[in-house]
Amino acid sequence: MKPTKTGANGDCFWKVIRHSEMYADKALMAEVRDRDGDTCRYCTRPVSWRHRLATIGATYDHVDPNQGNSLENLVIACKSCNSRKGQRTPEQAGMVLVPPGFTVPDESDEDE
Ligand SMILES: [Zn+2]
Repeated sequence: MKPTKTGANGDCFWKVIRHSEMYADKALMAEVRDRDGDTCRYCTRPVSWRHRLATIGATYDHVDPNQGNSLENLVIACKSCNSRKGQRTPEQAGMVLVPPGFTVPDESDEDE
């Protein structure tokens, strides 16, 4: 059974509020970005701060949407993963949060 897409419109309003609170805390944002770098914590692809509207655009994601803004609960995610995860925990979304600083191994072993 595939999870159905939850209505994005319903949770849009509080999300905007949450985000404005979050973006007000510049120091926290800087810490999250400093820890995670320019890498999505879900798919480990490099994210782009220049092309925020692209699927690889950089976003801040609440790991647990019901928790507040903290270094533990905020991660860098690409736009694609953030919208896929939505207002769910990684477990609920079937996604894995990789450790900070995780780098994708070279994919050159595919010819085995
Ligand atoms: Zn991603």
